[in-house]
Amino acid sequence: MNIAAKLDMNTKMQRLLAGKTAIVTGSTSGIGLGIAKAFAEAGANVVLNGLGQAAEVERTRQELADATGVTVGYDAADLMKPEDTAGLVHRAEKALGKVDILVNNAGIQYVAAIEEFPAAKWDAILALNLSAVFHATKAAFAGMKERRFGRIINVASAHGLVASPFKSAYVAAKHGVVGLTKVAALEGAEFNVTANAICPGYVWTPLVEKQIDDQARTHMIPREQVIRDVLLAQQPNKRFATVEEMGALAVFLASDMAASITGTALPVDGGWTAH
Ligand code: NAD
Repeated sequence: MNIAAKLDMNTKMQRLLAGKTAIVTGSTSGIGLGIAKAFAEAGANVVLNGLGQAAEVERTRQELADATGVTVGYDAADLMKPEDTAGLVHRAEKALGKVDILVNNAGIQYVAAIEEFPAAKWDAILALNLSAVFHATKAAFAGMKERRFGRIINVASAHGLVASPFKSAYVAAKHGVVGLTKVAALEGAEFNVTANAICPGYVWTPLVEKQIDDQARTHMIPREQVIRDVLLAQQPNKRFATVEEMGALAVFLASDMAASITGTALPVDGGWTAH
């Protein structure tokens, strides 16, 4: 391949998702924001979603739009509510014409022993981390099948594949997400609708930052020890993954090049689940 052709290929790689439209749930922060940025850089129009101060969210939205030249919207849907979750998809379809890519990323965590785990926390984690994935998928699925293109990317977790103590609701929900991903993959397969789960180990985000304090309290040990001996104890490469790594994988899974990858649960965990 000559240099000009190579450069053309590089440009195509960078705008791999040109003309596509994506919703990324929980993208006002952390992994979701990292994926939304990577999508916008790859040329996709993006709808952001998540909680946050209106002014701060608007600044993020505007900066991303200015930096990439794509359309970036924001929808404040509360994904604890099934109607609002379906509404997010329907509003995006109306505003941008279609939803090609749905990233179900919004999630919360709570850490406590089973006998002390508050029932309300169980219900909330199941509602957001699992049921919202179903409600958003359901709302987007018919349109994707009809247009014969769809990419559903569920941000599960290494905890969708293996367990850790004190995370009963989270581990149950994430295992559920991996199961739902497989069902969506089977139902979408003949329609060029793929569904995959990304299963990160520890990624440095506000959600992890909060866990450090929770774990320190539960185990009664200092923060530094939580990071080394609890959080990264199972992660052989002993480093947190980055949101940019999650974004790069999501762009690839959303692209035409990943058309044959479906129904998978891809560990991005520094070797954790190789144990
Ligand atoms: P985060 O706390 O930085 O971001 C969570 C996002 O979800 C935020 O945008 C928040 O506003 C949004 N959100 C919370 N409640 C919501 C609601 N009711 N409706 C709509 N949006 C809501 O967390 P993160 O670390 O970026 O986690 C993102 C996803 O990645 C989660 O599903 C999490 O389980 C998963 N994950 C994270 C890690 C990690 O180490 N950070 C590892 C594995 C999996």
